[in-house]
Amino acid sequence: MAYKRILLKLSGEQLAGKYDGGIDSELGAWLADEVKLVEAEGIQVVIMVGGGNFARGAQLAGHGIRRVTADQIGMLGTMMNALALNDIFEYRGLQSRCLSNIFADQVAEPFIHRLAEKHLEKGRVVIVAGGIGRPYLTTDTAAVSLALELSCDVVLKATKVDGVFSADPVADPKAIKLENLTGEEAVSNPAIRVMDKAALGLAVEHHLPIIVFDALKAGSVRSAALGQSTGTLIRS
Ligand code: UDP
Repeated sequence: MAYKRILLKLSGEQLAGKYDGGIDSELGAWLADEVKLVEAEGIQVVIMVGGGNFARGAQLAGHGIRRVTADQIGMLGTMMNALALNDIFEYRGLQSRCLSNIFADQVAEPFIHRLAEKHLEKGRVVIVAGGIGRPYLTTDTAAVSLALELSCDVVLKATKVDGVFSADPVADPKAIKLENLTGEEAVSNPAIRVMDKAALGLAVEHHLPIIVFDALKAGSVRSAALGQSTGTLIRS
């Protein structure tokens, strides 16, 4: 069954594509076309972008850089990704808007719940910058929180591999893909590190399904949004 409104979480690492950091605009254009396929199905799309291709607060903090400042720098990284993606999406013919959860009036519209709803109802993709706007959080937690706020039916969490595996599939050839998981299993199993536990816990508490999948496989965002079997479904 197709979802009506999805939240797609893209990490900074994915947006860096073939580069070690920064933004791979060619990949961004490819992603825009993948999102177009979802829009063509009449499904509304919210995107939360990470910022790990620029900075991650937990890694950056130290030698005088306070954790709060490091997280703010991380949030500014997400802003750069969101702005770039928004331009690329528009250039590829998608209607989209970048809304920011940090005050940045000169560069983006503020994230206001009603404004986001209005854009979505008009068929625009909403790309959210700045995570949830507070430190000590990741964009995974921000993604779940935003999905709840905007009544999204599912979080599509894009990862390098197509789903959750019993072990790291890159290191262990015997690792098997888990098609379905309960949220409780995902939270309690320390081997499952596909999303941070705060994000998973919030989704479990509110019975919000998460699909962990490989967004860089052609057509996979559309398949996941249509509720077709792809990646791993985590549901409580
Ligand atoms: N961040 C934050 N609050 C938020 C979202 C993000 O402080 O609501 C900061 C945090 O330092 C995080 C960084 O922004 O490490 C970049 O986000 P994340 O690490 O989630 O990016 P990803 O790994 O998805 O690229």
